[in-house]
Amino acid sequence: MKTQFIAMPMFKADEPGKATESVTVPHVLLVIGIHREELDFGKEVSAMINAEDVAVLTVPEVISGRRLRADQLLQYEHLHQRLYTQLLSHVTEQYMALIDLHTGEDQNGPKADFFCADQALREQLEKRIHGDANLLDQRVRLIPLDTPGLLHVVTVIPEAIWNNSDFRYIGLEIYLPETKAGRIAACHLTNYLIDIIADCFRD
Ligand SMILES: [Zn+2]
Repeated sequence: MKTQFIAMPMFKADEPGKATESVTVPHVLLVIGIHREELDFGKEVSAMINAEDVAVLTVPEVISGRRLRADQLLQYEHLHQRLYTQLLSHVTEQYMALIDLHTGEDQNGPKADFFCADQALREQLEKRIHGDANLLDQRVRLIPLDTPGLLHVVTVIPEAIWNNSDFRYIGLEIYLPETKAGRIAACHLTNYLIDIIADCFRD
């Protein structure tokens, strides 16, 4: 598994869905599929993304984030470190913000957690989210990344990713209900939230 990972191709931003005449360069990069089980939802979300605002990066080799045995944890951490370190070179000096999309389960969902170390950005997001009539307060939480959070990968993400002066890291964890309608609602909610983030980085 480790050898496979070393041999993985370098990240390459996904081609935009359709040709665009615009020369607008997105300031925000959305990364999907860090965890294998979560890739499908990432694809559903990215299909609705406005390519002028947000570039999408699909992780070429993904890690299973679930049902790890104790003896697999160390390897899991190493894989994350490598993956995120590789991601770092892709983000630095190209983007102002990195959105790292993850999913969890919640039958009362969809719900969302933002994980962000930058207090100013958290406050900016909080103001927009809690002032938005479309978003009920209890559906979206803003969680500082410098305190132990709930994002299931947070402890294995290198600090150079989530605390970097060159760009802002926003972990976005979406909690999905099992129903199809709930999943579609989650997809719309995610896009709505990504748009709010992108709006913070518009010129
Ligand atoms: Zn995940």
